[in-house]
Amino acid sequence: MIKIVSVTGACACLAILLAHAGTPARTPAALEQAVASPREAKPEGLRVTLLGTGVGPPVRLDQFGASTLVEAGGKRLLFDCGRGATIRLVQAGVPTSSISRVFLTHLHSDHVLQLPDLLLTGWVGAPGGSVQGGSVPGRAVPLEVWGPDGTRDMMSALETAFAFDIHMRRDVDEKLAADGITVISHDIKEGVVLNERGVKVTAFIVDHGLLAPAFGYRVDYRGHSVVLSGDTRVSENLITFAQGVDVLVHEVADAETNREAARRHTTPEQAGELFTRVKPRLAVYSHAPDTERVIVQTRKTYSGPLQGAEDLLMIEIGEKIDVRHFAR
Ligand SMILES: [Zn+2]
Ligand SMILES: [Zn+2]
Repeated sequence: MIKIVSVTGACACLAILLAHAGTPARTPAALEQAVASPREAKPEGLRVTLLGTGVGPPVRLDQFGASTLVEAGGKRLLFDCGRGATIRLVQAGVPTSSISRVFLTHLHSDHVLQLPDLLLTGWVGAPGGSVQGGSVPGRAVPLEVWGPDGTRDMMSALETAFAFDIHMRRDVDEKLAADGITVISHDIKEGVVLNERGVKVTAFIVDHGLLAPAFGYRVDYRGHSVVLSGDTRVSENLITFAQGVDVLVHEVADAETNREAARRHTTPEQAGELFTRVKPRLAVYSHAPDTERVIVQTRKTYSGPLQGAEDLLMIEIGEKIDVRHFAR
C-alpha cells in the first residue's frame, strides 16, 4: 500500500519501496482498512508521518484530526493528538504504547481530542494481540506532555475523569505498571523544550488570532530539520524559526473550508508567499483541505517543491527527501 516519490531526484531504494503504485485514487475505505507492518524507529535521519491532516472539528473519514509523528534518533515524538490519532498510529505500524512524549501546539479540541485514548489504551497495550498479529505490551513509562498554559490543568483533569478505570487497572484487577499511567506535564514558553541525544525540539509562538498562546515546533536532528506550523495566520516568528529548514509542514485554509479562515488561518496565496521566503527543501500541507484547488491557489505565489495534505503520508528527511504515499 506504499508508493514512494523522491523529491530531490531518483532514489536507489525506489524499487524496493515501490510496493504498490498506479492505483489512481485514495478512498476513505482504503484508509480504513489499510494497516502497515510494525516498524522500528530508524536511528539515522528524520522521519515525519502525517497522521491526521484534517481542518478543524468536523468529522471527516479521509482526513482525521490534527496529529503528526516525528521519529529521530530512535525516539518517537507526537505533535498534537486530534481525533483518530491512535488509529492512524496503528495503521502506520506504530503501537500506541510506544508513544510517551506528546507536544501540543494549542488546546483547541481538534488537536487534543484523542489524548485520553493515547493515555489509557497506550498504557494497557494489546495483550490479546494487535491488528498486526502479536501482542503488544503497554506503556511502562510516564506519558510526558508539553503544551501551552492550561496543559497541566487539562492533563490533571483527564486523570480525574478516568480515575475509576485507572484505579481498577492499576490497583485492583490487572495491576498494570503505575509508571505507565503517570502523567508529567509542562506548561511551556517559547524556546528549547527537549534536547536529548541530538534530538532538539524548539517551541515558538505563532499567530492563531485570539487563541493565544499557540505554538509551532521545530525538530532538529543531525543537521536535518522539520518545522510544524500548528494553527496560525502568517507568522513572521515562524519565518524566523524556519530559516534553513528541510521540511516545512504548514497549515492552510481557504474560504471554502473555513468561512472565518482569515481570522485564524493562512490562505493558500499567503502560504505560497511564505514558502517563497523560507525556501524549504519541501513544503507540505497539513491541517489543510486535500484538494487540487488549494494547490492551484498556492501556485500563484510559489513554484518550489510542494506536497498536499494526506493522512499517513511519510516523509524521510536526509540527503534526499523521500515522500511515501500510504494508500493511493
Ligand atoms: Zn486546528
Ligand atoms: Zn486551532
